[in-house]
Amino acid sequence: MGNAEIIQLAGTCLMPTYARFPVALVRGQGLRVWDADGCQYLDFLAGIAVCNLGHCHPRVVDAIRQQAGRLLHVSNLYHIEPQAELARLLVDHTFADRVFFANSGAEANEGAIKLARKFHKDRGQPGRTQIVSATGSFHGRTLATLTATGQDKVKTGFAPLPPGFSTVPYGDAAALEAAVGRDTAAVLLEPIQGEGGVRVPPDGYLGRVREICDEQGALLVLDEVQTGAGRTGTFLAAERDGVTPDICTLAKGLGGGVAIGALLATEAVSASFGPGTHASTFGGNPLATAAGLAAVKTILEDGILDHCREVGAYLLDRLADLAAGCPRVAAVRGRGLLVGVELAAGESAADRVRALMDRGFLTGTAGDRVLRLAPPLIVERAEIDALLAALAEVL
Ligand SMILES: *Cc1c(COP(=O)(O)O)cnc(C)c1O
Repeated sequence: MGNAEIIQLAGTCLMPTYARFPVALVRGQGLRVWDADGCQYLDFLAGIAVCNLGHCHPRVVDAIRQQAGRLLHVSNLYHIEPQAELARLLVDHTFADRVFFANSGAEANEGAIKLARKFHKDRGQPGRTQIVSATGSFHGRTLATLTATGQDKVKTGFAPLPPGFSTVPYGDAAALEAAVGRDTAAVLLEPIQGEGGVRVPPDGYLGRVREICDEQGALLVLDEVQTGAGRTGTFLAAERDGVTPDICTLAKGLGGGVAIGALLATEAVSASFGPGTHASTFGGNPLATAAGLAAVKTILEDGILDHCREVGAYLLDRLADLAAGCPRVAAVRGRGLLVGVELAAGESAADRVRALMDRGFLTGTAGDRVLRLAPPLIVERAEIDALLAALAEVL
């Protein structure tokens, strides 16, 4: 089928939840993807921070092929070799002592909320149930995670929402301090807000949040679904801030393109997820964890993180140069290869995304006025230069 036939078919039977671009992508290799009519694009969105190693990375594809021929699925009633190996790798390279696998970011966050509440209940503090999150945040589309999300647009129409959630302005430690108390189970934050506009909090914010949580006896849950798996140049974004959470969630980039989510926690907190407390049929299945194992090994072993920091700094520098001569750009921000270009008032990021697509570049938005760049971590300077030339044109 060509683009037109696929689009026509989709229109007859899919729920209209997505405002899609009028192309069907059918093949990918590295930074390149092709649509059903054979047009080629350079992918600077990477499935929204999912394909951190580019499309069809050979190590990931090979791991999937081998695992698919051996065992696709067994229940978590049995032990699963790649699941245990991936958990070991995550534990060895993060603050965490233990891991639970889910299938998506929302599901991992849902598990984090459950674990935080259960932890306090187990310690004789059943009144500690409240989850404090931030305005502009995004934590998922399940009922609990959309309630934690600090954006009204994801909540409209879905009332009644579960109780036990409140939000404070992101990046404002004083507001957080005022909101956290004896009824707080956990503070749930993204180290850098992705969907909310690639918002980087002030230096020292996360560290202060950690102190507030400790003073008040609340847990710190970091949602690294978008910032994790190397996206910002360290495996977890919070490493750069020197902050250790009690619980952290991962998903997007963790499976090299395969659906997976993970909940990482310290030993003390993990103890509250005893047998029978939480489960997932597909969570941590052999295929997803074999893919995740290959992806995480590659991210950690192949100098990918160094490369991400290096080209990420180059991208931010070049964007700053471009912004200096362009009144249509209000700000440029980000870390590693999670970058936002905020346009001036009255400008539309979606218009620029369409114009870039016409020039062969896939990019995204994060809110109305922020153009989001989240290319594979293997992106090269020449590809960044090509994007910047096109961006200069469309601006
Ligand atoms: C994408 C995202 C989620 C939701 O992940 P899904 O896999 O779509 O459920 C949660 N938190 C953050 C920070 C995200 O970027």
